[in-house]
Amino acid sequence: MIIVLKPEASFEHTERLLARITAAGLKALHMPGSERVVLGALGDERVLAELHLEGDPMVESVKPILAPYKLVSRELHPHDTIVRIGEVAIGGPVFQVIAGPCAVESRDQIRNTAMAVKAAGASALRAGAYKPRTSPYGFAGHGPSGLSMLREVGDELGLPIVTEVMDTADLELVAAHADALQIGARNMQNFALLRAVGKVRKPVVLKRGMSAKIEELLLAAEYLLAAGNEQVVLVERGIRTFETATRNTLDLNAIPYIKQRTHLPVLVDPSHGTGVRDLVIPMALAAAACGADGLLVEVHENPAVALSDGAQSLYPAQFEALMAALGPVVRAVGRQM
Ligand code: PEP
Ligand code: MN
Repeated sequence: MIIVLKPEASFEHTERLLARITAAGLKALHMPGSERVVLGALGDERVLAELHLEGDPMVESVKPILAPYKLVSRELHPHDTIVRIGEVAIGGPVFQVIAGPCAVESRDQIRNTAMAVKAAGASALRAGAYKPRTSPYGFAGHGPSGLSMLREVGDELGLPIVTEVMDTADLELVAAHADALQIGARNMQNFALLRAVGKVRKPVVLKRGMSAKIEELLLAAEYLLAAGNEQVVLVERGIRTFETATRNTLDLNAIPYIKQRTHLPVLVDPSHGTGVRDLVIPMALAAAACGADGLLVEVHENPAVALSDGAQSLYPAQFEALMAALGPVVRAVGRQM
């Protein structure tokens, strides 16, 4: 429920209303604006109705939040949220490109790839030390030593690092190394992980599940915000459809849809979205054109020998070409590189 107060509502009156909302077992939000104060009340709709806030003399209007997600909705929070990963602002005027190999494979591999993406203009480095693999025999990442290599290279090159956390048992260690925590597609509805990550004061990069509806992605983000973490970046990374020509179907409809309904920034991952190296650049440009706040792109110093996702990883020279091609598209839609 969104409760708009009259301009003459006093501080004390506002405090009393917030206390009433809290006492009813609801989550109370205080959103002072330049002209008037807006309150939020989240929780059981029946309890909300019983409060009869519309009858309060200092309440101008009471409006239900129609979407099932509340804290992530634009209804409650009209202005864009800017998420900071290190010094990098996601969701502001600058289109941000986060790049790196699928996995940290060795010190040389992560360092060489990081140097290449930095030279081409990437603003953050992303690689996995814990990899969710379909087969139990696939390379599942180096774990703690992968985290250390990633942190060292990030520090050396001055790039913030993003890496996936798959399990609550690893959360403390991953959070101690990373500038942002990725929750992967397979864990988008791991509610225990969402609740735990929601309590950490680190930005989160939340990927859409491969069979998740947009509403489910936004409700997964709601878990993070409800647990207290408002620094959430959403990622469209392709969904499973009947189409098998590509690894996934990159749902670019989701970008303007999400931007219209939520205040959270959204990135596109054209690497997992297509699974095909030669489709990454065109879909990355399309992502910029349709209003994404940036990209998550896989780049490998030598994709031919990558231990995971080589077929969708760009060669460094292709990444450089992508960065050059993005400029005019990004500017055409009113953003900056
Ligand atoms: C990844 O980012 O390398 C990854 C495993 O992605 P997703 O969770 O989107 O499949
Ligand atoms: Mn990958």
